[in-house]
Amino acid sequence: MTSAEEFGNRLAQYAKLLVHTGVNLPQGGKLLVNAPLEAAPLVREVIRAAYRAGALDVRVNYHDGHQALALCQEGSAEALAYLPGWAALEAEKALEDGYARLSVVGEDPGLLAGVSPEKVAARSKLVAQAMRPVSEALAGFAVNWCVAAMSTPAWAARVFPGLAEAEAVARLWDAIFTVTRADQPDPVAAWNIHLAELERVCALLNQKQYASLHLKSELGTDLTVGLVEHHIWQGGAETARNGIRAVPNLPTDEVFTMPHRERVDGWAVASKPLSLRGQLIEGIRVRFERGRAVEVQAATGQDTLQKLLDTDEGAAQLGEVALVKASAPVAQTGRLFFNTLFDENAASHIALGRCYPTNVQGGEDPEALKAAGGNDSLIHVDWMIGTPQTDVDGVTASGEREPLMRGGEWVI
Ligand code: ZN
Ligand code: ZN
Repeated sequence: MTSAEEFGNRLAQYAKLLVHTGVNLPQGGKLLVNAPLEAAPLVREVIRAAYRAGALDVRVNYHDGHQALALCQEGSAEALAYLPGWAALEAEKALEDGYARLSVVGEDPGLLAGVSPEKVAARSKLVAQAMRPVSEALAGFAVNWCVAAMSTPAWAARVFPGLAEAEAVARLWDAIFTVTRADQPDPVAAWNIHLAELERVCALLNQKQYASLHLKSELGTDLTVGLVEHHIWQGGAETARNGIRAVPNLPTDEVFTMPHRERVDGWAVASKPLSLRGQLIEGIRVRFERGRAVEVQAATGQDTLQKLLDTDEGAAQLGEVALVKASAPVAQTGRLFFNTLFDENAASHIALGRCYPTNVQGGEDPEALKAAGGNDSLIHVDWMIGTPQTDVDGVTASGEREPLMRGGEWVI
């Protein structure tokens, strides 16, 4: 086999994994794919795999990051503030019509680096507002969905600087295939084993119902995260409201649950830079008091971080806490991927902004969700605080501490 043929086979194997393990498209299912232009070779394989699995219909929406760049650089203030009322309609209708969703990511993480953070923040907010019904439906798993990645030249150049383009793209593909287990002889079987382990940890934590978690790292994280009552730990596969069990993120190594939006106290110190809106925010240190970020520091990108926190009321409060073992495949690559889908699976993390309603019993009712302590916001941004020296304790309602992680690894 030539190496081109070999690559073609691996790409097809990966596409099959996305359709079967990722969205878990049933016979007769409908699929909407969102992908950057550069993802066409992968998307073609996905379409093939979907029809082979008996899909009734496959729709593809290609987008181009350079469209946003051109708008930010050349657009008038009116153009930047304009979005037609029907912009989100297709996505809404597709959800109503039961279309599963596959989103392919691989954008250039530095594309908007030269644009003023005000413009990017204002535009991001406008788009987030328009897409709100869609993102809420997805956060509540109205349908089965999956986010996965594809290697693109601009992204690969960031992850593997200094290499020739083709070499960097190939190296990033190798990394994607490794961390998604797509390079294993039977990726679907490998995922079943991995998902069972995540399920075991979730079941144990769900039964424990800790009042809070305490995270401590050598970098200075010393954070108590109060959990909502009747919280639900999730991780790996998720059963959507249509009854289909899908894996929303490929790769995924996290188990996550819902912090109480008013019961987070202490310092959270980032263990990795955060790639946000085309910028890199490094050296983040945030102090929380009764749930709110009250002191915010960053070595670079502080402006962008502050704008994010100012988005709305809930943007300075937490919507997710997630635990990831330090030996997870993404962490083992030793790379920063400049993409949350990957980097959040390299370390335990917290997310500013919107919570996942599925992380608490009865959370599908917005009133009950709010009363339970769930957080609401236009944003949801994960940032990594875990390290190979992080200790995590579960704290019971009576104040007893039980070790969950030592040196970044599970001890349960
Ligand atoms: Zn997460
Ligand atoms: Zn998250």
